[in-house]
Amino acid sequence: MVNQEQVLKIIRKMITVIREQKDFLSDLDNVIGDGDHGINMARGFDEIEKKIPALEGKDIGTVIKTAGMALVSKVGGASGPLYGTAFMKAGGVLAGKSQIDIYDFCNALQSAIDGVMLRGKSTTGEKTMLDAMVPAYQAIKREMEESNDAKKAMEAGVAAAKEGVEYTKKIIATKGRASYLGERSIGHQDPGATSFTILLEAIASMI
Ligand code: ADP
Ligand code: MG
Repeated sequence: MVNQEQVLKIIRKMITVIREQKDFLSDLDNVIGDGDHGINMARGFDEIEKKIPALEGKDIGTVIKTAGMALVSKVGGASGPLYGTAFMKAGGVLAGKSQIDIYDFCNALQSAIDGVMLRGKSTTGEKTMLDAMVPAYQAIKREMEESNDAKKAMEAGVAAAKEGVEYTKKIIATKGRASYLGERSIGHQDPGATSFTILLEAIASMI
């Protein structure tokens, strides 16, 4: 079980890793996009940081939903509305909860994925964040069925997300800015799949 205080700790960890990886994420986006993914993510998580004081003691759903609204309001570019929707959908699933388990996390991740797909009109195999999100979700569920061990499940999720990032190198982007490159997008990893993996790794490190 993860309580509200631990969720705030995890969010602080996310803020830290996004800042650490800001330049790396923008460098990736520079190759197949417009070079702002790290800047966008850092701007969004800076805004989330500002909201934290007002979130002390609030239920986990409210915490995650507020983070999503911060991302939508502050981040230009595709990733703001998409990550914002993901967090808001996840927050909706976790509404009213003061503690959550791995099954709650899975439900929230599933809803986040559905939100991204709907908002982005996208699916897997298009070289986006979904190519890390969906395999991660599937791996977490599979590992829980096999071992019923949340730590192991989160580690399996991170490993699957990393494989998803590797997979994005092999495929052509058909959504987002990278799609303008067509075949020239092959050989390069997707920035959004990479940032999702970094965020999931941050969560897993705290479980
Ligand atoms: P922009 O592309 O507007 O500059 P960012 O650089 O911040 O925004 O984010 C780019 C990332 O957003 C991509 O690497 C990809 O993972 C994700 N993305 C873009 N379009 C979509 C979409 N339709 N569905 C899912 N993810 C998307
Ligand atoms: Mg960009």
